[in-house]
Amino acid sequence: MVKWQGRRQSRNVEDRRGAAAAGGAGILLMLLRLIIGRFGIRGLLFVGVIGVGLYMAGVNPMALLQGGGVGQQQAEPIDDESSQFVRAVLAETEDVWSRLFEEAGSDYPEPTLVMFTGNTQSGCGFASSGTGPFYCPADQKLYLDVGFFRELAQRFGAPGDFAAAYVIAHEVGHHVQTVTGISNQVRTAQQRARGEAEANAYQVMMELQADCYAGVWAHYADRMGQFLDAGDIAEGLKAAEVIGDDALQRGAGQEVKPEKFTHGSSAQRQRWFTQGYRSGSVDACDTFNTQDL
Ligand SMILES: [Zn+2]
Repeated sequence: MVKWQGRRQSRNVEDRRGAAAAGGAGILLMLLRLIIGRFGIRGLLFVGVIGVGLYMAGVNPMALLQGGGVGQQQAEPIDDESSQFVRAVLAETEDVWSRLFEEAGSDYPEPTLVMFTGNTQSGCGFASSGTGPFYCPADQKLYLDVGFFRELAQRFGAPGDFAAAYVIAHEVGHHVQTVTGISNQVRTAQQRARGEAEANAYQVMMELQADCYAGVWAHYADRMGQFLDAGDIAEGLKAAEVIGDDALQRGAGQEVKPEKFTHGSSAQRQRWFTQGYRSGSVDACDTFNTQDL
């Protein structure tokens, strides 16, 4: 069990749960997009004419829109267990990475974590629960649908709160890659890549490095804050196993095709997480210059 109770809570969490259908403004925006998308600007003008007509007849069109949203409008942060857990884990990543950046002579720009249910808008486009947790470099935010934790436990059979912490730490790893410029270098290399297989290979190196960074985080979370206990690392390894590309391909009834990997095999993900965890060294996570990925 991750010992997260009674710990510092990060303030960098944006709680958008229950906000998906929020308020009249959100619905109006969605409707406008829909109308412009389907009927173009002329469609919008037509709706405008109807709106003015309603207004003149004494009906407030906004009230009509808001009517459906009552009861879903409160999007205040909910102070429940998942929120406290996520805030505590994020705070722990802030403490560890701030220290590592400081040792390297720079400041760690803390990312924001967005908790959502259903769907939400990100700096990288529309996000839904089907997307899975991800990091968006454009707005430097982590997007986390809390339902994913349940799915991790039920569908993938990786229970335990460390599995969830590992997922957060992995996404924070992508943030670190972004602020250190690694992500940009990878993108440039991918643009020069000949074919999909080579571009995917770069993607795998990047993902395995994020796993290794999650391991580095676990190393210090363990030593600095006694955040973890004995079973946690085993849970993390189990999570790494079930989300390996070969396991996912097999689970989907497909043939295992390494050239289609984008995150690495179960064995690779476990190995790089362990590498980071044992060494506690960012330098040990150079997945781009290794003979043995
Ligand atoms: Zn990733």
